[in-house]
Amino acid sequence: MHFDTIAAISTPMGEGAIAIVRLSGDEAVQIADRVFQSPSGKKLIEEPSHTIHYGHLVDPVSGETVEEVMVSLMKAPKTFTREDVVEVNCHGGIVAVNRVLTLILNEGARLAEPGEFTKRAFLNGRIDLSQSEAVMDLIRAKTDRAMNVALGQMEGKLSKLIGELRNALVETLAQVEVTIDYPEYDDVEEMTIPHMLEKCTWVKEEINKLLLTSSQGKILREGLSTVIIGRPNVGKSSLLNSLVQENKAIVTDIAGTTRDIIEEYVNVRGVPLRLVDTAGIRDTEDIVERIGVERSRQVLKEADLILLVINSAEELSVEDERLFEAVSGMDTIVVSNKTDLPQKVDLKKVESLVEEGKIVTTSLLKDEGIDELEEAIATLFFEGNLESEDLTYVSNARHIALLQKAHKTIEDALGAAEAGVPVDMIQIDVTRTWEILGEIVGDTVQEGLINELFSRFCLGK
Ligand code: GDP
Repeated sequence: MHFDTIAAISTPMGEGAIAIVRLSGDEAVQIADRVFQSPSGKKLIEEPSHTIHYGHLVDPVSGETVEEVMVSLMKAPKTFTREDVVEVNCHGGIVAVNRVLTLILNEGARLAEPGEFTKRAFLNGRIDLSQSEAVMDLIRAKTDRAMNVALGQMEGKLSKLIGELRNALVETLAQVEVTIDYPEYDDVEEMTIPHMLEKCTWVKEEINKLLLTSSQGKILREGLSTVIIGRPNVGKSSLLNSLVQENKAIVTDIAGTTRDIIEEYVNVRGVPLRLVDTAGIRDTEDIVERIGVERSRQVLKEADLILLVINSAEELSVEDERLFEAVSGMDTIVVSNKTDLPQKVDLKKVESLVEEGKIVTTSLLKDEGIDELEEAIATLFFEGNLESEDLTYVSNARHIALLQKAHKTIEDALGAAEAGVPVDMIQIDVTRTWEILGEIVGDTVQEGLINELFSRFCLGK
């Protein structure tokens, strides 16, 4: 396929040692060549692929030197987009990189849309849709584990499995065709149904397995939204600080979304905790009153995990009990804090208010109990089997929705086959399942969806 030549700044905006302006397309090398001057007078168009060149960018109109650069030359097809790609490494200041970009745009490149480089890699057949989505996950990964999941998907793990499932379905469809084309052979139909049942059952089970990983996958990808609540002075801020100090806090600023979100993450044994509404936590005085406010209830309702802190040096108060009521039915870990002081709380009573195993005693002052708390968090969400890294995870909401749809249609096919429905009717459901699975890898998706997906990327990717 042939597209025009696009260019964008591919590194984050800000001050750094270097910044990169990337070009991709048929004209990429020519455009770079027109503004590039090397000390030895070499021409980029004559240089071999996958080489790097030192020189200056010079404005061909004014003759003015714009920047000192290193230019990486990568000719098609062995490039990220499968097109000619040039990467201009310049100084990392906002002015420097913008000057380079402007010069290149003036020479005829078009400013790339967000995600357009990755979109080209997809359109040129280098990667499929689920792999493209993994590129975005990789950029946004908050923990090593989340990064491994994204890497696995980018390398095509999910695509490969989906491919196998679709193959199995095509095989059964081929068999059905034979039955329909040669109805005079009764025994063909007799053989077709059991074969179809077997294959479809296998496909259904594999989809099931994928769906089972989805809640963990989603947590790894998006983080576990966590709310810390408790009466004033029980130790909420201390808990937040301990979690943040023991585990590196990651603050992400996702630009380009509808609103700019600042989120705080801490990595607890591979589980990214997204600390929600931390402003409310720090504002300790009115947290209890705020529980009564609708918005706070909403925050609680949307949380994946609640850390309810109590002061074990005091008896449970009415306010504490109100908090227990507010979180009933949610995944809650009770942090019974201040064990270094004389104990007054009735732990039996606390136990009667939450499920067993979800009470952790701490002295945040003396740094005790944090390990146990982290263990409890990890156990709650991975049920102990943390090291299942070779599993193929699905974490992407779009993939999950499609897998659920595919699960439904394959179940319909199986139900119909068991009920003795004519085989050509079952064929419809099997074909539909094949199509739905294809949407995951982008084999049967419409253009609108493709544009929508890639527009969520960051600029220059
Ligand atoms: P918050 O109002 O719930 O956020 O509570 P803070 O974290 O601000 O803690 C309130 C007070 O309790 C502070 O003076 C802390 O130093 C103290 N504190 C926190 N954890 C402990 C603990 O485990 N033992 C003791 N003795 N004091 C603690």
